[in-house]
Amino acid sequence: MCGIFGIFDHDDAATITALGLHSLQHRGQEACGIVTHNENNFYSEKRLGLVGDSFTRKDVINKLPGKHAIGHNRYATSGKTFLRNVQPFFADLSSGGLSIAHNGNLTNSLSLRHKLVDKGAIFQSTSDTEIIIQLIARSKRTIFINKLIDALFQIQGGYSLAIMTGKKLIGVRDPFGIRPLVLGELDGSPILTSETCSLDIIGAKFIREIENGEIVVITNKGIKSIKPFPVVNCRPDIFEYIYFSRPDSELGGKSIYDCRKNFGIELAKESKTQADIVTAVPDSGMPAAIGFAEQSKIPFELGLIRNHYVGRTFIEPAQQVRQFGVRLKHNANHSCIKGKKIILIDDSIVRGTTCLKIIQMLSGAGAKEIHMKVASPPITYPDCYGVDTPKQEELLAARKKNIKEMAKFIGVKSLSFLSVEGLYRAMGQKKRNENNPQFTDHCFTGDYPIVPIDKTLDKSKFDQLSFLSNVNI
Ligand code: AMP
Repeated sequence: MCGIFGIFDHDDAATITALGLHSLQHRGQEACGIVTHNENNFYSEKRLGLVGDSFTRKDVINKLPGKHAIGHNRYATSGKTFLRNVQPFFADLSSGGLSIAHNGNLTNSLSLRHKLVDKGAIFQSTSDTEIIIQLIARSKRTIFINKLIDALFQIQGGYSLAIMTGKKLIGVRDPFGIRPLVLGELDGSPILTSETCSLDIIGAKFIREIENGEIVVITNKGIKSIKPFPVVNCRPDIFEYIYFSRPDSELGGKSIYDCRKNFGIELAKESKTQADIVTAVPDSGMPAAIGFAEQSKIPFELGLIRNHYVGRTFIEPAQQVRQFGVRLKHNANHSCIKGKKIILIDDSIVRGTTCLKIIQMLSGAGAKEIHMKVASPPITYPDCYGVDTPKQEELLAARKKNIKEMAKFIGVKSLSFLSVEGLYRAMGQKKRNENNPQFTDHCFTGDYPIVPIDKTLDKSKFDQLSFLSNVNI
């Protein structure tokens, strides 16, 4: 998760970045930050909570002068939520000041951190992003870009980076393009952002996606592209299409909304059930439910109403908050539920917390039958590239023996999932290329493009480093 945004050479760099981050709020709600640079200095403001709570204030924006800016919305996948874990990070290196915003997760962060600490590196945060700064700082190369490439060759995982130095804005997308990054332009000023929806909101033009394994270097002289990695096929995370990205964004030339609608259409083709209405878990299940209703010819109704003034439940990292959040966020629309046979659509089941509560709510509202249909396959493997589907033992589909058991647990008459084949068909692919899959889909298939486990690490040694997380600053 996490949203990143950067703009180069614009008079309102901080304000534009705040607006950009606001439109990327769905990617992380725990904290946010902006770092700017004017000709002389870097300026940094970081806050816990939502963008709109802090960065709409004049007094905060006024502390961020300069024509260049990068910003970050945080969703904690690595490291705890302390202010010092909030990005963008800033560091003074031999090559000058550097600020970095990172979306994604490094799969070898523990071993890298361990090696760096052994060599005397001092870490300010528990976030894996700081490792990248340490690696850049320690590179023996002379030119900054080469130092960065040196660091990138040592890290593994899914990542998008926006990096700002005194004279440059740099965007990086990991070799497989697991996490997204887009290039745009506003009034001639280049922009880097996680999603295209943020370009629309500020009236900016979409230029192109940063390619997998590409580094773009933006300076006063223009935009340069470098591709230092061995070429591999782009494998964007299928979860960007299923859940993360906003439906009004485009990724890989595809509208996220259209893809989600197609998931619903394929699901309806695969799983036919007689029912009175199709309804969705708002907002995540909406586009798929619209597709399902269209294909099945069963009317779509708003069986659940969402309170829009509560954040996305899953985004809160603590299980307790998440459970409470489901009740805060949704309510059954009694008049269209009572006495009806219902097809309930959601985009995915992760732990099963959300659907369990919602199904109890719908039963309580007098639903006659509930058939749950999920617009993605069962999640049986955890994520490690920044998507944060939890440990395997917490995943409902991994905990239960089969779909029947899952259905019993969540309390529905029937439960169906979109198949992996259906998912690929909905994405416009004839089928999944088993040798070289078109997407990063490990959550369903166990096929991880990069080995996830930090095997080299002596865990007991790393535990000694965790003193950092006890200092709450
Ligand atoms: P759960 O209650 O754990 O089953 O969460 C499922 C809900 O969280 C679904 O309704 C999705 O919309 C949403 N969701 C799915 N995957 C993720 C993810 N990796 N991170 C955050 N939210 C997710």
